[in-house]
Amino acid sequence: MAVHDEDAPGKKAQTDEQRAFHGGDGRSSAPPAGSFDPMTLETKSLALLQEALRELEHGFDDLPRFDGELSEAELERVRAVLLEVAPRMRDNFPYPHPMYVGQMLKPPHPIARVAYQLAQWVNPNNHALDGGRASSAMEKEAVAAIAAMFGWPTHLGHLTGGGTMANLEALWVAGKLRPGATILASSIAHYTHARLSQVLGLSFEEVPVDARGRMDLDALRDRIRRGGVGTVVATMGTTMLGSVDPLPAILALAREHELRVHADAAYGGYFTLAEGLEQDTRAAFEALAGVDSLAIDPHKHGLQPYGCGCVLFRDASVGALYRHDSPYTYFSSAELHLGEISLECSRAGAAAVALWATQRLLPLERGGRFAEGLTRCRRAALALAGKLSAGPRWRLALAPELDIVVWAPREATASATSKRTQAIFRDAAAEGLHLAVARLPRALLAERWNGFAWDEDEVACLRSCLIKPEHADWVDRIFETLESVA
Ligand SMILES: *Cc1c(COP(=O)(O)O)cnc(C)c1O
Repeated sequence: MAVHDEDAPGKKAQTDEQRAFHGGDGRSSAPPAGSFDPMTLETKSLALLQEALRELEHGFDDLPRFDGELSEAELERVRAVLLEVAPRMRDNFPYPHPMYVGQMLKPPHPIARVAYQLAQWVNPNNHALDGGRASSAMEKEAVAAIAAMFGWPTHLGHLTGGGTMANLEALWVAGKLRPGATILASSIAHYTHARLSQVLGLSFEEVPVDARGRMDLDALRDRIRRGGVGTVVATMGTTMLGSVDPLPAILALAREHELRVHADAAYGGYFTLAEGLEQDTRAAFEALAGVDSLAIDPHKHGLQPYGCGCVLFRDASVGALYRHDSPYTYFSSAELHLGEISLECSRAGAAAVALWATQRLLPLERGGRFAEGLTRCRRAALALAGKLSAGPRWRLALAPELDIVVWAPREATASATSKRTQAIFRDAAAEGLHLAVARLPRALLAERWNGFAWDEDEVACLRSCLIKPEHADWVDRIFETLESVA
């Protein structure tokens, strides 16, 4: 990431950690003016943005002449601010690089970035067709393609600001259709389910997980039999472990007791296209055709910039629940406006344009190039887990079910393990390898980690989301760095 440095004010704010991973004192030698040879950051697509903008401009040919360009003086002021912004943005972990293998952060595909920017010259609002006709049409098409990926013949759905909003809408609909009934999700489901239920005034309870981090079916059955349950949330890939709840059995129980099932597939949903899943994981994804609602995050595994979640309902008649007649919104036609079926009002049409373009380039098909990207993430996780469990230094928390690997240095006690985990996390960062840390409960590990002394009820483990396909080519390097740090 060699960019101009000079005496930018942002530089003073550089942390020790930043200095550590950029090497030396954080000063990179400024390249000669006009030369720029980026390695980590993709820039060739910028020329395509220029070309596409010229194409877009023709749409305004019939209008009276209006000069939208910046003046030279304003351009210079904008430039000065941007050159202040760029060095400040260095105060981040290097997310696009394969040696960043920590949290669930995936760089958007260049086409998503460029299509998003292109759309911003129009800045459509997908609340209503009057705010963005083309981008609303693209949203409907893109969302229909996601529904088709899950084998849904019918659907009602739209994009949201993210997975939390998508889950909020699904739980809101669940509460409307099962008033007063309890929502269940596993004890390691996303923390927002409990909070969203609170916001909605719905009662919420946790169901324990088994040793693989999947919702425990006996506990679920017992809780359902005690009565009062309306909806079960099945997590298709937990954020911490990537574990997938046993959806076929959950659906069977739900049918027997006439419950709703919502699938939180925010992180894991796209793995329905991947190869190399275990048989029961594959069966869980196949069962998604039978859930009532589903949340998926194109801004996680779908190669989109942040601000792109999606909620789907299998029964389109739930649309009636959203009916409102505010005098100041502007639905001017009988055709469906997305604001008529969503809780959010204004939303970036650009997010829909970016998603549509990405799916046009990389269709959501098994065996396609997009699916191959997910398969490579899965392969990377299996390869790293294999190396970690083969040597004497590490202990896997559990076999990865999707592309998240959780492991710990081999120590005798929980407290010693947690301490070493933190030290390795820090030392690896100094070597340019960026991991994450997760605290796991004793109940999840006790069965597998025999001979381990639980002097504390939780243990800090290292956690890596191998969420970039390129990780498949970097596993050796990642593992070698880990070994050298340990
Ligand atoms: C990330 C995530 C969420 C929350 O989605 P945001 O897009 O961060 O709002 C919900 N559920 C699961 C399983 C997730 O992984």
